[in-house]
Amino acid sequence: MSEPMISLESLTSTKSFDQLLATAKSGGCTSSSCGSSAKPDDMDSAIWEKIKDHPCFSEEAHHYFARMHVAVAPACNIQCNYCNRKYDCANESRPGVVSEKLTPEQALRKVMAVANKVPQLSVLGIAGPGDACYDWKKTKATFEQVAREIPDIKLCISTNGLALPDHVAELADMNVDHVTITINMVDPEVGAKIYPWIFYDHRRYTGIEAARILHKRQMLGLEMLTARGILTKINSVMIPDINDEHLIEVNKWVKERGAFLHNVMPLISDPAHGAYYGLTGQRGPNAMELKALQDRLEGGAKLMRHCRQCRADAVGLLVSDRGQEFTLDQIPGEVTYDPSKREAYREVVARERGDHVAAKSAATRMVKAAGSGKSLLVAVATKGGGRVNEHFGHSKEFQIYEASPTGISFVGHRKVEQYCRGGWGEDATLDGVIAALAGIDIVLCAKIGDCPKDQLTGAGIRAMDAYGYDYIETAISALYTAEFGVEPLAATA
Ligand code: SF4
Ligand code: SF4
Repeated sequence: MSEPMISLESLTSTKSFDQLLATAKSGGCTSSSCGSSAKPDDMDSAIWEKIKDHPCFSEEAHHYFARMHVAVAPACNIQCNYCNRKYDCANESRPGVVSEKLTPEQALRKVMAVANKVPQLSVLGIAGPGDACYDWKKTKATFEQVAREIPDIKLCISTNGLALPDHVAELADMNVDHVTITINMVDPEVGAKIYPWIFYDHRRYTGIEAARILHKRQMLGLEMLTARGILTKINSVMIPDINDEHLIEVNKWVKERGAFLHNVMPLISDPAHGAYYGLTGQRGPNAMELKALQDRLEGGAKLMRHCRQCRADAVGLLVSDRGQEFTLDQIPGEVTYDPSKREAYREVVARERGDHVAAKSAATRMVKAAGSGKSLLVAVATKGGGRVNEHFGHSKEFQIYEASPTGISFVGHRKVEQYCRGGWGEDATLDGVIAALAGIDIVLCAKIGDCPKDQLTGAGIRAMDAYGYDYIETAISALYTAEFGVEPLAATA
C-alpha cells in the first residue's frame, strides 16, 4: 500500500498552489509531457485533446475533472413519458427538483464563483430541464458570456435533437465541440410509446407521425455534427419491454453516423416523480440487466459506462455533487474570475495522471499474464483521483470494475445511501448497501469496520481495506493475482 505522492485532498485544499506547482515540477514533469503520455495508443491526438479533460467523454478524465450544469433553458418542444417538467431533465439528470433556474447573467456569476472554488472545473453544460436547442437564445447568451470570461472552459449541451439541426452552425462557431443527443429509438413505432407529442414548425404532432419527425431530425443533427468534427454522445434511456432490445439497433445507427459515445442509462421510474411511466407502473432495469445490455453492445459504438445521471444543477466531480454549496443566495453579487487555482490544479494533475496511466498499464499486463481464465467483479470506494481512498461507510457510490483475462475495465457504478453517520450506522441502511452490491465478488475501500465487513461476508461479498490509497487498477491486479494463485512478477516477465 502506498500513499499518493500528491493526494486529491492536497489538490483541492487551500494549501499554497505555488507549493503544489513546485511539487509537480520537481519531477521534471510538465503538463504537456504528462498529458500526452496519458493518451491511449489507439486514439487520434486531435480527439484526445478534445476529451482529455472532459469528465463525461473520457472515463479516465472523470477521476480528475469536474463539470457543472446551469439550468438556463427551461422550455421544451417534446414530451417524454419519463419526464415531469417540474423535475430535472432526464436527458442528463436524475429526477429531483432543480434548485433554481438561472438567467444567463446569473449563470455567468455562478460559473465564475465555482471556477474560483473548484479547481477541477473543466466543463460547463446546459442539460435541462428543458431543451438547450429549443430555448436557444438563453443557451447562446450564457455560452457567449462565459466564453468571454473563461475562454478555456469546455462548453457542452444536451438536447433531444428536434431543434438541433437549426443550430449546428452556431454551435461550431461558438467552439462547442461536445454535444449530447438523447436518442431512444430509430423505429417510430417504438418512439410512439415513448413520446406522446412533439411541437415542431409551429404545430403539435402526436403518435407515430411525431416519432417519425423526431427520428429524422435526430439523425440529421447527428450527421451534421459529425461533418463538423463535433464529438457527439448519444444518451439512450433503457426502458424494459419498450426499447431495451431495440437499443441494439439504435447503437448500430448512431455508430454508422459517427457518434463518439453511446451512453445507455437506466430509466428511473417512481410514481412520486409524477411522470407518465412512474404513474403507470413502468419499471426501470436493475443494475445487472443494464450491464447485460451494455455487454451485448460491446463492439458497436463505444460505450460510456460512468454516467451518473446528474442533476441539471450538478457541480463538481461526477463522484460527488457539490451543487448545494453554490446556490445563488451563497454567491456574492460581484464575482471576478481568478484563473490561478485552475491553472495550478492542471499542472499538478498532469503529473499524477502520467503516473496513473503507467500504473494502469502495468496492472493490465499483470492480469492478462495471469492467464487464469476467471473474472472478478470488484466494487471500489473512491472519492476521485483514480485511487481506493474512501471509507466503506462514507461511500455514496461504488465504482464497479471487472478483472478478466482481457484486462481490467470500468463497468459502471452503484449508488447507495451513506451508511456511516458520525460513527454509527443504521442496520436498514447497511441492508440497502448490501442489496445494491448484489453480484459483486469483492469490495475494496480505504477502511471498513468489523460489523459491516461481517455482514457483507454473510451475504457472500468479501470486503477489504488492505489496498487503501493504491491506484484502483494496481489494487485490483494485486487482488486478482493473489486470488488465483499467480505470482505477480509473472506479469512483467
Ligand atoms: S427533452 Fe428533457 S425536458 Fe423535454 S420532455 Fe424530454 S426529458 Fe423532459
Ligand atoms: S449526466 Fe452523465 S453525461 Fe451528463 S454530466 Fe452527468 S455523468 Fe456526465
